[in-house]
Amino acid sequence: MNGRVIKSTGSWYILQTESGEIVKARIRGKFRLDNIRHTNPVAVGDFVDFETDKDCLGIITKIHERKNYIIRRSVNLSKKSHIIASNIDKAFLVVTIDNPKTSFGFIDRFLVTAEAYHIPVVLLINKMDAYDEDLKEEVKYYRYLYEAIGYKTMEISSKTGLGLDELQSELKDITSLIAGHSGVGKSTLMNVLNPELNLKTSVVSDFNQKGQHTTTFAEMYEWPFGGYCIDTPGIKEFGLVEMEKEEIQQYFPEIFERKGECKFDNCLHLNEPKCAIIEAVENGEIAPSRYDNYLGFLEEIEEEEY
Ligand code: GDP
Ligand code: ZN
Repeated sequence: MNGRVIKSTGSWYILQTESGEIVKARIRGKFRLDNIRHTNPVAVGDFVDFETDKDCLGIITKIHERKNYIIRRSVNLSKKSHIIASNIDKAFLVVTIDNPKTSFGFIDRFLVTAEAYHIPVVLLINKMDAYDEDLKEEVKYYRYLYEAIGYKTMEISSKTGLGLDELQSELKDITSLIAGHSGVGKSTLMNVLNPELNLKTSVVSDFNQKGQHTTTFAEMYEWPFGGYCIDTPGIKEFGLVEMEKEEIQQYFPEIFERKGECKFDNCLHLNEPKCAIIEAVENGEIAPSRYDNYLGFLEEIEEEEY
């Protein structure tokens, strides 16, 4: 039988069959050994084959090839990868300009990761109801910056409903990932779009502006209007697949597009002569924050190499 993993606790999985039935399942012991490098071989979003035993419990026998997947950023040096979710059509990154303020570093890291995983991203600028004129100017800058390099941006508010109809039509009938720092309003947004969901929301502490994690496991929810949403609570950053220094620029559309204009084919845009990227930064055609973050990623890779 066919099913899709909608929840994982590490040892048990909840599957939804094509007809909408819910089945509790586990993986075969042997299967586990085949995938020893993964702390958890089955991910939320996976399409699987399964059999049922005499107690009507499912046994997953096969994972279908994944269109894409995201891994958790490794916190130690064991190099174990942990696949969080798979088969994602689009990622929606929820950001806020204030309370908490999302940094360009965080946004760019997410975008680079998503590019590497081949997941299109839409930026959702949330809490629009709470911004004064100055903050609205900042919103304009964010939109200008990211739209110019090809990312769709939307202004929304879960409180007033601003932009939510348009968002709903973006989410309809696809599998999407809703991500963002804690405190930016992901749970509130998901609850508004799916009132039956009733996710716990947190109160952002004005003191540290960081918010609290309320849940830990990834889970997939069906929207009442069609489509699925993957929630990855408590996971702020996704791990980058191992990358070569030369590869990073592929994931910055505005750098990649101009790369051929540099004097040297292997230009890394650090301080090489006649570099089209450095020129574009100086002319104001590439945002300094984007270029700085590009350099930051290069440095990180260098540190890993030594
Ligand atoms: P999460 O950590 O991303 O899931 O964020 P929550 O949904 O728990 O929301 C964090 C805080 O932001 C809560 O105090 C919400 O009431 C508040 N919040 C969420 N959405 C909005 C919004 O559209 N406007 C305003 N002003 N506050 C919001
Ligand atoms: Zn260059």
